[in-house]
Amino acid sequence: MQKIVIIGAGIASLTAAEALRQNGFDGTITILGEENTLPYQRPPLSKAYLTSDELPSPTPIRSPNFFRDNKVEFEQGGKVIALERSAKQVVIQGGRKIKYDTLILATGARPRPIDLPGESAKNVFYLRNLDHSAALRNALLAPECEKVAILGAGVIGLEVASAANLQGKQVSVFEANSRAMCRVASPLTSNFVRNRMASAGVMFYFNASVNQILTEGDRVSGIRLSDGTTKPADVVVIGIGAIPNAELAQDANLDCDGGIIVDSGMRSSDPDIFAIGDCAKAVNVSTNTPIRIETIHNAMLQAQIAAAHICGKPSPPASPPRFWSDLNGMKVQCIGIATGYDRIQRRPTESDNACEFWLFSGDRMIAAETVNLPTRQAKLSKALSG
Ligand SMILES: Cc1cc2nc3c(=O)[nH]c(=O)nc-3n(C[C@H](O)[C@H](O)[C@H](O)COP(=O)(O)OP(=O)(O)OC[C@H]3O[C@@H](n4cnc5c(N)ncnc54)[C@H](O)[C@@H]3O)c2cc1C
Repeated sequence: MQKIVIIGAGIASLTAAEALRQNGFDGTITILGEENTLPYQRPPLSKAYLTSDELPSPTPIRSPNFFRDNKVEFEQGGKVIALERSAKQVVIQGGRKIKYDTLILATGARPRPIDLPGESAKNVFYLRNLDHSAALRNALLAPECEKVAILGAGVIGLEVASAANLQGKQVSVFEANSRAMCRVASPLTSNFVRNRMASAGVMFYFNASVNQILTEGDRVSGIRLSDGTTKPADVVVIGIGAIPNAELAQDANLDCDGGIIVDSGMRSSDPDIFAIGDCAKAVNVSTNTPIRIETIHNAMLQAQIAAAHICGKPSPPASPPRFWSDLNGMKVQCIGIATGYDRIQRRPTESDNACEFWLFSGDRMIAAETVNLPTRQAKLSKALSG
């Protein structure tokens, strides 16, 4: 009987297992996840969790019956520490080995460390998992927390800024670039979002390079900018991007370059090993060069593509990347990749609280961004899928 092993137990992993069964795979499927919990959704960790009155329970990715219903063996708390490609087996911490015929790497990503003095002080947070979110929530809710400094104006930084602002904290966002969300949205959308968050009280500092996290005793007390300015803070949150968990692949000599390199079927440089989700670097419908995309949509789509290829079935239809964010009551949604455009068209909207931008390269629309227009998404997605 064929045996598929999946390393990682996030949305990419569970979607792959489900899609393998839907495509008729009847061998064994084993998921190995290092976290000591049933697989949970990450998006709420930087949104509703941070503002909820009671410590929230994780939102499961699938119902508890998922593993039984899909005949999937799930081992939680089992970190894979090595791939032995010649023997076609993985090694779990403690030394146990598990054989595979096909291996799927769905190991995700982790926060990019800032590597500054003071980084390990109390009340300095990164945000990737449930424990991070619970600890940050408790720190934000503590009565002594008045000032919050966010390092990085990417999506996660802005979501934390929004949550802290809604709790009445004084929030300052420090960004090395000249604008917010610069990796994922056009300047027009980032300005729209920045202006509304600023009018809600969030303070933004752009072209601001933080070079020290200040401490008093073992606690954080503020940050210092490269021009020598200091800003007080009771809580500091670092949101400067993520790096792929690609070390297993690298150590096993798979092709990696800022992510595990895969072809259009999500196959790595070893034909028996696939990589999907945040850890994988692939060409997609919106780019001609390989790119790593950190979204739920991408993780699910790549999982479905890999499962189809493993089962010799047609790939699911191409679909442009997309993500959403909830910021100070705004629903921000982007389809396509906001890069390589030469023209942006602002579309008319009925309300000043909403906006819609179309991004073009020559005559071709390559991306669309909306704020507070959730019903536009289906139409825009269709337009961009060609
Ligand atoms: C706070 C936060 C908010 C987000 N909000 C949004 C949003 O609003 N919209 C959106 O589209 N996307 C959002 N994202 C991104 C989205 O959650 C990710 O793109 C998605 O979770 C990627 O899924 P994945 O399965 O590839 O990786 P992950 O979800 O990271 O899962 C990988 C799993 O593999 C495990 N693992 C790693 N190495 C090993 C090993 N050696 N052995 C065993 N297990 C291992 C990890 O512990 C982890 O549990 C958010 C992410 C975060 C962190």
